[in-house]
Amino acid sequence: MRIAIISDIHSNLAALEAVLADAGAVDELWCPGDVVGYGPNPNECVDILRHRRAICVAGNHDWAAIDRLSTADFNVDAATAAKWTAANLTPQSRRFLEGLPLTHSTGKFTLVHGTLRNPIWEYLLSPAEADDTFSLLKTPYCLVGHTHLPLVFVSPEDGRSSRRLEPPAGRALGLGDERLILNPGSVGQPRDGNPAASYALLDRASDEIECRRVSYDIERTQLLMQQFGLPARLWQRLSYGW
Ligand code: ZN
Repeated sequence: MRIAIISDIHSNLAALEAVLADAGAVDELWCPGDVVGYGPNPNECVDILRHRRAICVAGNHDWAAIDRLSTADFNVDAATAAKWTAANLTPQSRRFLEGLPLTHSTGKFTLVHGTLRNPIWEYLLSPAEADDTFSLLKTPYCLVGHTHLPLVFVSPEDGRSSRRLEPPAGRALGLGDERLILNPGSVGQPRDGNPAASYALLDRASDEIECRRVSYDIERTQLLMQQFGLPARLWQRLSYGW
């Protein structure tokens, strides 16, 4: 069974389509949150996940779009995009976002957007934050999003702190006895200096997971964002991957 792990899509249909084409035939789509926000195609992205019965959890931008989270703590551009998204959601998209759980476990994996201590809002960036999530994790592996950075944390041994690794793109990581937290990076708004869409492919037969980067038509997304009056900083950053 092959599974595409697609996080932080952020209404970027051009990036999502490129990732799905790169992934080829997959049995399931798993999304650790932020289907919408920032980008120009919230309904089209939700429709793809809805029709393909993706396993998906809620992110902070998904909640902001359905007024379940105040945008007071968002930066001004993110808040502007959240309000635009809320005003442009179809009833079906709204219902899909309203139905997303905070965490979801399937087999050996738990999906959560931020951390298990604070699923919606906390960023999992440091070994100490990884330790906290490992202490609450009931499955061997955890898939997170939110930071938009492809990262792996390996479980602490003998009371030591978690180890942080940057997964090499295009090389598979074997899932062994060690517990792991993996962030596949962001499909629709990468922030590691590489503008290519980022996602991961899980092969459950070989128990391997591979982080992949895919070039996509960035200009297509940027032109739509300009057309819809979304903040300039949000479309400009897509060129640089910051
Ligand atoms: Zn995000």
